[in-house]
Amino acid sequence: MSDCFILLSAGKSKRFKSKLYKQFISFKNKPLYEHSLKIAQDSKLFNRILLVTNKKIKVTSHKNINVIKGGKERHNSTQRALRFLKNKKIKNVFIHDAARPNLSIKLLRKLKKNLKNNNAVVPYLKSENSVKYRNNRNINNLNRDKVLLTQTPQCFNFNELFNLYENNKEKITDEASLYLNNNKKIKFILGDKNNFKITTVDDLKYLKSENYYGIGFDIHRLIKNKKLYLGGVKIPFHSGLKGHSDGDVILHAIIDGLLGAMRKSDIGTLFPNNSGRFKNIRSKNMLMPVVKLLKDNNFYINNIDINLICENPKVSKIRKKVIKSISRLLSLNKSLINLKGKTVEKLGIIGKEQAIACEVICSLSR
Ligand code: ZN
Repeated sequence: MSDCFILLSAGKSKRFKSKLYKQFISFKNKPLYEHSLKIAQDSKLFNRILLVTNKKIKVTSHKNINVIKGGKERHNSTQRALRFLKNKKIKNVFIHDAARPNLSIKLLRKLKKNLKNNNAVVPYLKSENSVKYRNNRNINNLNRDKVLLTQTPQCFNFNELFNLYENNKEKITDEASLYLNNNKKIKFILGDKNNFKITTVDDLKYLKSENYYGIGFDIHRLIKNKKLYLGGVKIPFHSGLKGHSDGDVILHAIIDGLLGAMRKSDIGTLFPNNSGRFKNIRSKNMLMPVVKLLKDNNFYINNIDINLICENPKVSKIRKKVIKSISRLLSLNKSLINLKGKTVEKLGIIGKEQAIACEVICSLSR
């Protein structure tokens, strides 16, 4: 028996004024739905993840994910998902709206823990506003301390929810409503304020982010009988870059740029030259702890601009390959990485092809 995370991403976004459905708008440089997918996967709580959508999506970066077509309304989409999962030995389902991209692993764990003794667990927030209720012509006060604003993921025993859905004839806006309509017990737990829903274009405007910039520079001497690595890929060339590591000037400059923007000192502090531990290390392995730092501190990359300073190899010949490699190493869309070539009029050691230098600027947001 296993748990499944169902991500609903088939909505028509009636309240969202954008030509793109809101789940496909870019939030922190990724389509909205990708954030929750990634969290579900990183949580390692699910044997199966189901994305319900009406758009053709190629999910390449994630394993064990099924993509199915959604229905007309939210409850139609959920029902399709539940029918898809029938006979797949699912114990619990977590149903989440793609419009809540700030889901946390902490909340997922809390929900899972509460499922041990309950068939239905739903996160909620208390209302911070006074609440009125319109009943025909009358408007009444509601005690806001007794108001529960429900969030997702809403979590259920699969079989129970499946049966309730199969017998349901009403249009419902979430699964909690279905449970309440059938007088079934729900365990409500305090949700997460950060797990907000993006409903209108204005919601995006209020999400102010902090922006930071970092600069990186590096230079290494070219020597014979060494392989040349630039941006994490091997480049056919008559010489390679001398250094404690593989001498990859592009990755070293990127590392310093990223560390700079995070205000976390520099590459030499992270990987001391006098430490035998890092001798002959591949630079992509030096980049990984920096990528982890980004993630742990909630940073995301806006863009990276790179100047590679050398006479040869010609940047136009290696650009595609290098950008593809950096994109993969940083899990960053290729369109956000730029690589320019700069020669130095045959001046100095760079001009004489005895060295290659690189400068980089990175923009980050949090
Ligand atoms: Zn270096």
